[in-house]
This record gives sequence, C-alpha cells and structure tokens, in this order.
Amino acid sequence: MEPPKIWREKRQRYLGTGIECSDCNNKNFPFTDYCPNCGSEKVEEYKLAERGKIVQFSQVNQTAEEMTTYVPYAIGIIELEDGIKVTGQIVDIDYSQIKVGLHVRMVLRILAKDGEEGLIKYGFKFVPVD
Ligand SMILES: [Zn+2]
Repeated sequence: MEPPKIWREKRQRYLGTGIECSDCNNKNFPFTDYCPNCGSEKVEEYKLAERGKIVQFSQVNQTAEEMTTYVPYAIGIIELEDGIKVTGQIVDIDYSQIKVGLHVRMVLRILAKDGEEGLIKYGFKFVPVD
C-alpha cells in the first residue's frame, strides 16, 4: 500500500498541484495538508494554471551534481494566470531572450537523471509561449 503523503507528493510533482482552501478560498502551492493563510484543514487539491509570465529570473551556473548536465540554466519566478507564483527552470529559449513579462507555459520535463540507476525525476519547467 502506498502511503497517501507520498502519493500526494508524487501527484504534486507531476501535475503542479496546490491547494484551495474551502474556508477562505486561498490558493497556494505547493500542496499542504492545511491552509497556510487561515490554518483550516479543509483543503482541496488545486490544479495550477499552466500559463503565466516571468516576474524575475536569473542564470544558474552551479548546482547539485545530478543537474550539472543542464548548467548553465535559467531559473525564474513565474506568476501564473491564477495569481500563484512558482519557481521553475525556463527552457527552450536562449538566456539573452528571457525578459520580465515574457509569457510562458508549464510543461512536463525530466528534471534530473540519477546516475547509472537511470532513475528519472520528472517535474514542470517553463517554455516560452509563441
Ligand atoms: Zn484558508
């Protein structure tokens, strides 16, 4: 049997799932068992908006060993269309082309490969919207 917490973390990673509070309507990411705004435990899974725009970004030149094949890469804070801000890698675009206000959408990509075992971690990244 798979413990619910692990199942939820997995879902969150794959789908970009946050919470919506039934008491105060606060939306938040990542998924938590309670509302960080009002403390209520009446929270529902909430699927994040898939589109947003870049509000801040920077280039990463040093990172964990499992990510070194991606260095240098761009990481940004994205304000999604539902107002939630998330941090993610910005890909499929030259760093010099990235700017604040650029519209992006969430895509499922490989985050890291774990050495010889070939364990692959998936998560969301952001690509420019045409
Ligand atoms: Zn709340």
